[in-house]
Amino acid sequence: MKQERRKSSNVLLDTALQEFYGAADEMGLSEKLISILSHSERRVQVSIPVEMDDGSVNVFEGYRVQHSTALGPSKGGIRYDPEVDMDECEALAILMTWKCSLAGIPYGGGKGGVACDPLNMSEKEKEKLSRTFGARIAPILGKWSDIPAPDMNTSGQEMVWIVDTICKMRGDLEPALLTGKPVTFWGSYGRHEATGRGVATCGLEFMKILGKNSNHVTAVVQGFGNVGSYTAKTLSEAGVKITAISDITGSYYSEKGIDIEKAFEVINSNPKRLLKDFEKAGNCEKIENDLFVDADFLFPCARDGMINRKTADKVKARYIVEGANGPVTPDADKILADKGVVIVPDFLANSGGVIGSYFEWAQNLQGIFWSEDEYNDKLVRIMKGNFKRVWDYSKAKKVTMRRAASMAAIQRVADVVKMRGTFL
Ligand code: NAD
Repeated sequence: MKQERRKSSNVLLDTALQEFYGAADEMGLSEKLISILSHSERRVQVSIPVEMDDGSVNVFEGYRVQHSTALGPSKGGIRYDPEVDMDECEALAILMTWKCSLAGIPYGGGKGGVACDPLNMSEKEKEKLSRTFGARIAPILGKWSDIPAPDMNTSGQEMVWIVDTICKMRGDLEPALLTGKPVTFWGSYGRHEATGRGVATCGLEFMKILGKNSNHVTAVVQGFGNVGSYTAKTLSEAGVKITAISDITGSYYSEKGIDIEKAFEVINSNPKRLLKDFEKAGNCEKIENDLFVDADFLFPCARDGMINRKTADKVKARYIVEGANGPVTPDADKILADKGVVIVPDFLANSGGVIGSYFEWAQNLQGIFWSEDEYNDKLVRIMKGNFKRVWDYSKAKKVTMRRAASMAAIQRVADVVKMRGTFL
């Protein structure tokens, strides 16, 4: 019997499902495999009581979704954000399955998070939240089962709180249990910058294949957190003129090019790592929205849904490289395609993070450490190869890069599911 196809009222989840169904149909994937891969293996919800600094108790909701473990342990970040819910985590877990598959690394896809407002919580409150969340999801985590990493509003510190809690519970040291740890505690040189470096590498390869000299290209980078800041830094080091950057404090524009080193100085001296008042320090102009700046390339590296039905029409860039997960909604995708905008999809462009995590995990399992150069050389080589593979596949199949990447990624997972078999 043909199983009814899933739909979701959550835009991100619906987008992930519809992209999967579209690619699967185009590939002629069997209904049996479509049914299996359109559902997640495990969706876990936990309650996290935290005694706040004022003595009150807040109970936060936390989630961990394992979409697929066909290729290996599920891998994916943990985010802290007021909008986190189960469907969002599932959408991002599905994306991780395709991202790991496309990257050619031995992982499945997972994602987790806690619905909270971390920017208005103290360090102590965040520590309690992280430790209790870690303890609650500990039964499903492990170096061979599910390996988290940082994501929006989480960093090496949150990872250390979680891994420390679980190690103490288990009475054993298991640094390979999660990645994105600080270099001083089983982390890897290069991992912190890996996602942005990978996004920028895709952008630079894209420029090369289009016959553009990076020294004559202008770009806008939206978001100046982990992904955006290192994307901007790597692009700027390659000669690209970054005419606008932004974060939650606003958008900053300079026709002559933003001084990215200065932007780092500003976030490094701000306790919340924000670009607050950057127009003064950076000698630039504060503008309404950096998405609408006239530049060749746009790198949306802030969060999902930023380029949507309302904003897509005003985007002037001809080329988009998705640093964030899901920054372009499906309606916007169509509007941009009609305008002739070419998009490098998120699960190719930002896969440097998970490839870098794989390097950290591999080093942890062996108890050895690579140099930063060794790490970066391997990362850049893989990113360049993967970009070229998807570009060629999209030309051969006459489909968008998003569709080409989906098809290549789904095929590998489907082949392994078929090979490993299921309990049917
Ligand atoms: P982050 O929290 O470090 O940074 C997010 C940045 O976006 C901040 O500068 C924030 O101020 C800014 N921002 C938020 N809302 C904005 C808005 N409306 N306009 C402009 N700027 C805004 O998060 P991150 O780790 O850099 O992640 C960003 C995106 O990249 C997310 O979609 C995440 O899932 C994805 N991603 C992250 C990694 C990673 O390794 N960190 C890997 C793959 C994908």
